[in-house]
Amino acid sequence: MKFDAWYTEPQTENLSLSTKIKDILYVGKSEYQEIQVIDTYEYGKTLILENTYQTTERDEFIYHELISHPALFTHGNPKNVLVIGGGDGGTVREVLKHETVENVDFVELDGMVIEACKKYMPTLSCKIDDEKVNVIITDGIKYVADVAKTEKRYDVIIVDCPDPVGPAAGLFEMEFYNNLYKCLTDDGVMVQQTESPLLHESLISKIKGHLQDAGFGFIRPMVCSIPTYPSGFWSFTLASKQNSPLETETAEIVAKMEKYGMETKYYDEEVHKGVFLAIPKFLK
Ligand code: SAM
Repeated sequence: MKFDAWYTEPQTENLSLSTKIKDILYVGKSEYQEIQVIDTYEYGKTLILENTYQTTERDEFIYHELISHPALFTHGNPKNVLVIGGGDGGTVREVLKHETVENVDFVELDGMVIEACKKYMPTLSCKIDDEKVNVIITDGIKYVADVAKTEKRYDVIIVDCPDPVGPAAGLFEMEFYNNLYKCLTDDGVMVQQTESPLLHESLISKIKGHLQDAGFGFIRPMVCSIPTYPSGFWSFTLASKQNSPLETETAEIVAKMEKYGMETKYYDEEVHKGVFLAIPKFLK
């Protein structure tokens, strides 16, 4: 079907973002959310959940590279990785660029998101069926609470979650961060998307406080521009038990990227340094 129509996401009470639709590829409703995949003129194929842009073919590399590589290189030798959320598969794709990674537990609440993205967004979902990936369809909040009670530990945990509403709200609460801390090895690193520095400053402060209370030694925000998210200005927060992201050796990143044959469009050793050093004053 061809449409001469616009898709509009009301991003706040007073702000919306519209893209002209080329095609509507998928519309579904799971027990958790409404799922749409549309093709747009400016941003290509776009995943929308609950009327909220999740990821687009054109700008997804910024988000998926930044949520993955700084944390994985800060750890230095990640073998076991947990990805919570991220049903489009973009984060799993980036994690698998690290040769040291032996196992990725991919915990997504909604199997229908994975299926829709496998069918309509293959450039993101292309590695979900990799033999190193273990897809677990369950709630990430419950998953980490259960793992925390066992001996199982992860080197890196990536929380690739939507906004803190509905089933994702608990992914921003103290109990979750306490469990994340327990689920990590002694040199473990976690990273989470933490919304817009411009619109959600108090949430970012709250998350930092929770991570400090959970016991993480190093906590740093990263900011970047993601045009389809509210305000276009976005943040991630990285928390590490032992390794400071500022001390990752540049030469080591260069050597590993070369060894792994890692192709990236946003991340490199300079971005690694810059993203942790150049924190806007108001956010500091
Ligand atoms: N890049 C995106 C953003 O910032 O909006 C996030 C994309 S990814 C599609 C988010 C995924 O998290 C969704 O597929 C959703 O089903 C999943 N999710 C939401 N709550 C969850 C939970 N409690 N446990 C695991 N996955 C969850």
